[in-house]
Amino acid sequence: MKEILFLNPIFKTMIWGGEKLKTEFGYHIPAPNTGECWAISAHENGDCTVKSGAFEGKTLSYLWRHRRDLFGNIEGEVFPLLVKIIDAKDDLSIQVHPDDTYAKEHENSLGKTECWYILDCEENSEIVIGHNAKNKAELIEMISQNRWSDLIRTRPVKKGDLFQINPGTVHAIRKGTLILETQQNSDITYRLYDYGRLYQGKPRQLHIEKSIDVITCPHTDTETEDKITQLDGCTITQKISCPYYTVSHIKVAGTATLPQPHPFINVSVIAGSGQIDSHPIGKGDHFIIPANFGNFTLGGNMELMVSHI
Ligand code: ZN
Repeated sequence: MKEILFLNPIFKTMIWGGEKLKTEFGYHIPAPNTGECWAISAHENGDCTVKSGAFEGKTLSYLWRHRRDLFGNIEGEVFPLLVKIIDAKDDLSIQVHPDDTYAKEHENSLGKTECWYILDCEENSEIVIGHNAKNKAELIEMISQNRWSDLIRTRPVKKGDLFQINPGTVHAIRKGTLILETQQNSDITYRLYDYGRLYQGKPRQLHIEKSIDVITCPHTDTETEDKITQLDGCTITQKISCPYYTVSHIKVAGTATLPQPHPFINVSVIAGSGQIDSHPIGKGDHFIIPANFGNFTLGGNMELMVSHI
């Protein structure tokens, strides 16, 4: 059976969230401070259901457990990836994620490698990536002295940029950015600093010791390079390929037929509208093209973000 898995996104309110998931993507959001849309997720904290067709109402984790053939019968306890859209109206906390080894030992979870594709941002926006401590001793000293502005590094961002955030990287999304995040299927975040903010009268929990455990010293930036493939009807720009995922941007202008050689392909429509085979699709749609689907044809004028393992 050839069936595309269209998914219902799940929304998360956050103290730093905004309304762009409604104003930009047309979603029905639960509150004016909606920070995250979990668009393609089989995580227990937000397990997407299939929107229509033979698997309507089934969760992605159910299909992973019972219909592994849809994912090329690959091994693994959990569906490996998670795709989110993040609307940061305010700054996110400064945080770090563990790698697989540390996460397995301390959290019984996968680690978290993630990447951010900048969908949109305000002028002069920046993000936090990296820190200035030469070694762990200096890191501990700067944290204990609250020297946050000396410690953290920022980088300017613009629409279309992609940033790879490896485990151990100090990072934070800053206000005014709208991001499509592709990450390992993990929800483990160690919060290092939250600007002293209060949430329902209390500061959010920090995880200083675990953060210090996992922060890489000294920091090194991971540079990424676009690899562009021009085809009839579309331009494919591979933004990153790492051991956990490959993420590409596809600009469709006309009609293009592409192969499906992977265990699965995650697709998010980030602009415009068109079709995949005979299905109409538009901005804000998210779906999975399963294994053995064969070729698929994209038509219209639209931009997609796609990922596979
Ligand atoms: Zn993160």
